[in-house]
Amino acid sequence: MTTPPNIILINCDDLGYGDLGCYGSTVNPTPHLDRLAAEGTRFTDFYMASPVCSPSRGAMLTGCYPPRIGFDSFDKGWVLFPGNPDGLSTEEETFATLLKEQGYATQIVGKWHCGDQRAFLPTRHGFDHYFGIPYSNDMGRQLNGPPNPPLPLLRDEEVVDQQFDMAAVTERYVAEARSFIRENRDRPFLLYFAHMYVHLPLVVPEHLLARSANGRYGAAVMAIDWATGMLMQTLEELGLEENTLVLFTSDNGSRARDEGGSNRPLRGHKGQTWEGGMRLPLIARWKNHIPAGRVCNTLCSAIDLLPTFVQLANARMPARTIDGVDLSAVLLGDDDARPREDFCYFARSDLQAVRDERYKLFVSHGEPDKDTPELYDLVNDIGETQNIAADHPEVVERLTQTLDDHNARLGPEGSERRPRGRVEQPQPLAVYDEAYPYYAAEYDLPDRG
Ligand code: MG
Repeated sequence: MTTPPNIILINCDDLGYGDLGCYGSTVNPTPHLDRLAAEGTRFTDFYMASPVCSPSRGAMLTGCYPPRIGFDSFDKGWVLFPGNPDGLSTEEETFATLLKEQGYATQIVGKWHCGDQRAFLPTRHGFDHYFGIPYSNDMGRQLNGPPNPPLPLLRDEEVVDQQFDMAAVTERYVAEARSFIRENRDRPFLLYFAHMYVHLPLVVPEHLLARSANGRYGAAVMAIDWATGMLMQTLEELGLEENTLVLFTSDNGSRARDEGGSNRPLRGHKGQTWEGGMRLPLIARWKNHIPAGRVCNTLCSAIDLLPTFVQLANARMPARTIDGVDLSAVLLGDDDARPREDFCYFARSDLQAVRDERYKLFVSHGEPDKDTPELYDLVNDIGETQNIAADHPEVVERLTQTLDDHNARLGPEGSERRPRGRVEQPQPLAVYDEAYPYYAAEYDLPDRG
C-alpha cells in the first residue's frame, strides 16, 4: 500500500493525438510536456469515452460510458449549451466526491461543461472550489455569433467576470492552481486543471503568437506547455514531486481542419469515432513510482481514472455501477496487466464501434443505408486504412457479440441507462447589459466549434 498521492489531472480541450512533440509533432515545441513524458510514462492506446466535450468530461469524472449517466445526447444536442436545463446528476459520484471523503482538498480550475445550472456546478460534485468557465469558450458573445449570454468566469458558484480577456485566462488559471497547491502542500489534494485551449476561438497572447511556427494554434499549445511547466516547477519548489501523480490528456481529438491541429497518424477528427476523434495523449508522471521514459501500449480509457484514483487514495468505489477498471498496476509499471478487455466507441447514443487489444469493429458510421461491418487491425494499421472484415469472419463474429452485449446494457434501449440531471426553469449565468464594462463586449474572432 502506497501513501495516497496528490493528483493533478490536466485536461485540454480539443488537443489532438499528434499535437505534442512527444507524440510526433514537428510544429509545436512542447519541452515541458516532453520532459513530463521522459520522467514518466506515455500511453499510446488511451481513449476518451466520447469524441465531444460534455460526454467526454462527464464520463471521465464518473468512470462511466456517457449513456450510463444520461450524457450521450442532450435533447438531440451533442453537448450542453448555456442555460440548458440538463447536467450531471448529483446522484452520480465523481472522483472528486470520493477523494474529498478521504480528506483530499479538491479544486477545479478551468472548463467544466457538465451543466451550468447551480445544481450541476463542480461545487455540487465534490470540488471544494471552482475557478473557470462553465462551458466552451465559443459559447459567449462573438463576432457574427449567435445571441449567447456573455461568457462567464466563475468562482465557486458566483460569476466574477464576463467577456474577460481570453488571452490572459491561462495565466490566471495557473496562478489559481499554484495558490491551491501551496495552500494544500501538507495534505493530500486533487487538482483538476481543464484548459480553455485549444478550443476555438484561439485568442492567444501576442508574445506566444510572435514565436509560434503554427499560428494561433501553436501559440495555444505553447500556453498549455508553459502552464504544465509552471505546475511542475511548483511541485519541485515544494518538494512534492515524489508524492504527486501528474496526468495530462485532452477531452477529444482535434478538429484537424485549417486551424493547425493534428491527430496524426490517426484517421478522423473531433466528433467522429475514427481513432482521431477519441484516441488521445496520456502522460503520467509520479516520480519513483511510475517508470520513467516508458511507452505503454495497454488499452485504457479515461473512464478508468476514477477506479484508479480510488485505489491509490484508498477511497471507496461509487455506490452505483460504473464501467471503468483499475489501472493502477498498469500505471505502476506492470506490462502484463490487462484490466480492460475492450472499449466502446459511442457517438451520442449510437454504439458505432468496439475494440479489443488488437482489432476494432465498426458497425456504423451513422449512415444506416451504407453501413456494413468493417474490421481494422489497430496494431498493424493505426490509420484504419484496410478493412479486413472479409478475411476474419471469426473476429467480426466475436466482436459483434461483444458490441451487442454492451448495447443491451447501454444502447438506446439499454437496461442500465440512468437519467441525467434536469432542473425546471433554467436560467443563464449572465445576461448581456450594454452598460457593463466588458473587456470585450464581443470577441473579435468569429471561429467556433
Ligand atoms: Mg473538447
